[in-house]
Amino acid sequence: DSNEARDRGLAYYQPTRDSYSADRLTLASELREALQSNALSLHLQPKLSLATHAVVGLEALIRWPRRKSPIGADEVIALAEQTGLIKPLTRWVLEQSLQLRAQLLEQGWPLDISVNISPNNLREPDFPTFVQQLMNCSHNHRGTLTLEVTETSMMQDPANSLKALNSLHSAGFPVSIDDFGSGYSSLSYIKQLPASEIKIDRSLITDIATHPGDRVIVQTTIDMCHSLGYKVVAEGVEDGGTVELLAAMGCDMVQGYWLTPPLPIDEMLAWLATGRTLSDTSRKLG
Ligand code: C2E
Ligand code: MG
Ligand code: MG
Ligand code: MG
Repeated sequence: DSNEARDRGLAYYQPTRDSYSADRLTLASELREALQSNALSLHLQPKLSLATHAVVGLEALIRWPRRKSPIGADEVIALAEQTGLIKPLTRWVLEQSLQLRAQLLEQGWPLDISVNISPNNLREPDFPTFVQQLMNCSHNHRGTLTLEVTETSMMQDPANSLKALNSLHSAGFPVSIDDFGSGYSSLSYIKQLPASEIKIDRSLITDIATHPGDRVIVQTTIDMCHSLGYKVVAEGVEDGGTVELLAAMGCDMVQGYWLTPPLPIDEMLAWLATGRTLSDTSRKLG
């Protein structure tokens, strides 16, 4: 699909079986170098409220533009986690996102920014304090910075993840459970989470227009999340029919290529500024 090709670059890095291979070490030092020289970038993807048809937030997604064979965000993160670079990488993403929040506010967009957090970040004992300090130093004290964590990543270390999320939540950072329904999850664990939002994984959303069974699962998930007090975001929404179904099912927000693929910051600012999105969206939603 051309959006995906444009967004991600389609040549994937293939992790080798030998994690100490020369290739891998080269790649790791290339990533370290990219981080130090500010060669990484962020793309942004909006989250749209189905109730108001307004953009309510932007998700920051890491990009590593490489001349030879682009590497997808998932692979960049996996490499960073395996090579001890995830701490500085997340720090960089948080700093950039906070700067961006301030820039958006200046231009009249008081939007929430969502940042994806790795399980390894939640294991750093000083992580909640660190995020709070960055926030205190930022130029925009209005609004929120949302932290997205995947359900699966928390299951690796449920007790410590819960502890870290509780500190972040009490410090006022909304927590979002990403890729919900994509892996093994314990409902008794989920119900304890100090989250404000659940993002239903794209794999569950993709076929709701054609698969009644998927519709039942998504409807049940939406109802359950609402009963537990969470807002619900549907990820990977690619067509208007799916948006209409989700609106009828009571889903709160959508994200996906239907609205726009993730865009570089300048293009996202231009996209927001046209305001075209909102009327387009209303028209599309009927
Ligand atoms: P995610 O957080 O679940 O992000 C959603 C992914 O789905 C993104 O892929 C996005 O480009 C893609 N996507 C959005 N809408 C659609 C759609 O309609 N159709 C399809 N097919 N795909 C869609 P991306 O940017 O490649 O990121 C992949 C994953 O890498 C993210 O999944 C997240 O888990 C991780 N990631 C990205 N940036 C960061 C980061 O800065 N830090 C950490 N820790 N993880 C990150
Ligand atoms: Mg995410
Ligand atoms: Mg996700
Ligand atoms: Mg994901």
